[in-house]
Amino acid sequence: MNPVSRIYLDNNSTTPLLPAVGEAMQQYAQSTVGNPASAHRSGAAARRVLDECRATVAKCLGAFPDEVIFTSGATEANNLAIFGLSKGVSDIAVSRIEHPSALEPCLQLEKQGIRLHSLEVDELGHVKEASLPPLSPGGRGAGGEGVQSQQSLLVVQLANHETGTVQDIARLRQLAPTSRFHTDATQAVGKISVHFHQLGVSTLACSAHKFFGPPGIGVLLVNRCARLEPRTFGGHQQAGYRPGTEPVMLAVGVAKALELACSEMNERHTRCQMLRQLFLDTLGATTPFIINGDSANGLVHTLNLSFLGCPSDVLFIRLDLAGVDCSTGSACSSGSMLASPVLLAMRVDDARLKSAMRFSLSHLVSEEQVMEAALRVGQEVNQLRR
Ligand code: PMP
Repeated sequence: MNPVSRIYLDNNSTTPLLPAVGEAMQQYAQSTVGNPASAHRSGAAARRVLDECRATVAKCLGAFPDEVIFTSGATEANNLAIFGLSKGVSDIAVSRIEHPSALEPCLQLEKQGIRLHSLEVDELGHVKEASLPPLSPGGRGAGGEGVQSQQSLLVVQLANHETGTVQDIARLRQLAPTSRFHTDATQAVGKISVHFHQLGVSTLACSAHKFFGPPGIGVLLVNRCARLEPRTFGGHQQAGYRPGTEPVMLAVGVAKALELACSEMNERHTRCQMLRQLFLDTLGATTPFIINGDSANGLVHTLNLSFLGCPSDVLFIRLDLAGVDCSTGSACSSGSMLASPVLLAMRVDDARLKSAMRFSLSHLVSEEQVMEAALRVGQEVNQLRR
């Protein structure tokens, strides 16, 4: 084993930029200079490219081009959607396993007087339908008067960043047909088929650097029927929802990356499935582990594994030194480790909670790398257990 050759298994944190995406961006940057808002021909040329990017993104995600808003990433898109949809809202129902960029805007709104309901999940991480609050008088939920559905906002992610569990958003939509509904699809877009209008939500967020595009650009889809209050002011761009000069070069990057992800989706999926099995088989031959999340139906490239008896922070450092990039769902606060809120919500027992690691693959990883990584993980785990 070459101890210094690094193996990147942290693709849910960020993915490498595909060369074809970098080339498309470079080609744009070298050929076009205009601000898409300028009336001259150079501006019009930039605007044409931007419109093409919007059309490509819309086509890939089952939306209309005028529903595509470019943001700086998913954090901004989640904030814009949740604050933007919150006007006149009395109740928000948010799943307990959201990314902080979706959860924390809800907590801020709670401080402003909006009632917050937590949606519970089962042991695989699926939102429990029974935990939906009564969204209209006599509607689904634990009894009580209920609130007018137009005054309620549902916030449920499409796929989980730590476990890869995929939610049945269309089903939740059926249970709350007239509520405002935001879904954070950051981990799903580019990995599984996502159709905005079939999901039926008001808004959907994603981020290019999760699907081999450039960091610094995300997308918020806003349904034509949804009313969104802007968060920033001072320009007319993007229907006033997100004023400021549009980053056309980054829009070229997100459109190209998404187009490739959609056209190659089946091949990438099949490859990740094979790599996942190879990783699990190689690791299983070396050391025992437990899989967290919905292994059968979740995102194939995401593996959340517990190695009982191995504290995840210690294992993380050992794997970093052994040249394997991965992650733990726990966060460091004031020098102590806080358990993963996602696994806590799934009521994973303490031993599993404290020993959970996330390995996120991609179609770009080689078979040799996957086997080598599994061997290094097995070796470190066995040493720690001894
Ligand atoms: N939502 C989810 C589910 C994520 O995994 C992430 C990134 N870890 C974000 C939102 C935030 O994305 P960005 O880095 O583009 O702001």
